[in-house]
Amino acid sequence: MPLNERTLLGPGPSNPYPEATAGLAAPLLGHLDPEFIGVLERTCDGLRSVWGTANPLTLPLSGTGSIGMEAAFANTVRPGDAVVVAVNGLFGVRMCDVAARYGADVVRVDHEWGRPVDIDRVLAAHPSPAIVAAVHAETSTGVRSDIGALGAAVRSRSDRTLLLADCVTSLGGMEMHADSWGVDIAYAGTQKCLGVAPGLAPFTFSERAWEHRVAAPPVWYLDLDLLGAYVRGGTGGRAYHHTAPVALIASLDAALRRILDEGIEAVAERHRAAGARLQEGLQELGLELFAAEGHRLPQLTSVRVPEGVDSAKVREQLLTDYGIEIGAGAGPYASSVWRIGLMGANARLDRAELLLAALGRVLDRSRGGSI
Ligand SMILES: *Cc1c(COP(=O)(O)O)cnc(C)c1O
Repeated sequence: MPLNERTLLGPGPSNPYPEATAGLAAPLLGHLDPEFIGVLERTCDGLRSVWGTANPLTLPLSGTGSIGMEAAFANTVRPGDAVVVAVNGLFGVRMCDVAARYGADVVRVDHEWGRPVDIDRVLAAHPSPAIVAAVHAETSTGVRSDIGALGAAVRSRSDRTLLLADCVTSLGGMEMHADSWGVDIAYAGTQKCLGVAPGLAPFTFSERAWEHRVAAPPVWYLDLDLLGAYVRGGTGGRAYHHTAPVALIASLDAALRRILDEGIEAVAERHRAAGARLQEGLQELGLELFAAEGHRLPQLTSVRVPEGVDSAKVREQLLTDYGIEIGAGAGPYASSVWRIGLMGANARLDRAELLLAALGRVLDRSRGGSI
């Protein structure tokens, strides 16, 4: 095998936890094998723990984070529903697109990229929307928004509005309290802070969301009624819907056990410490952070490319000389921002120092005109 090991410090995928890689290689089980059902149930329980929810309908969907977004809107939007979407980066834009495809009357509340969601503006956008949607950790800009405060505001106004949160980059990297925050629908992805290969979208759906769900949504594959019959079982037992991606679920199970053994708070603290060191070190290198101070994610740091430096060449040198991947900026910031992730297994001080040392050398060469 070629020696092509990479240190994945971009916006995902991140290097998996060793336990997750071992889980992927375990002997394959059938998707209705009682032993696998045990693995699946433990996975759903683990997801409830990291999410801070008691929702019975908490499960890994087959597909990457975006399939969670699709399932969220497919199962809740009826044509003509008012859906308020807080947009402060690329993934808010994507939510608008997905919601509109299911017929939502999308009320888009745009924010400057790099700023957190402004709760007053979101509430003012519509008096009684069916759904309010926001991204907890905007991976495109490195900004965290206060979903707990948004949930409290939405709940204090109406019992009927559902709160939908994109937690793709937050789950497994930050403490979450979905139930006490008033989150009704949330989804995540495995390849960011959960430290598993891409391919699953953890998903959770509250009782309130269940009461408001769309019967027989237009996407058969993501019909929560049908999925629930397999994941939760029922009077008729577990019904086949589609073949569960058993190897990936075993891998997620192993990663969740690793996270719960370390402790959710300890894992969040590890992300905080690594991110803080990286952000401090980048500023010591003379670089300017992109996201608004006080709202920066520890697990994903956005930093401005210095004047006169070729953004793509620096990333290429990091990859070829040091085997380190970092991300370009998103959307309009593609060549003016870099995005550096310290997620899951990479949320470590030594990874922060490694990146700082390598980036410092590459920047010196860039400024010296040799790349
Ligand atoms: C990565 C990401 C997504 C999309 O997930 P995929 O796994 O790429 O489908 C959605 N929202 C946020 C905030 C993300 O970071």
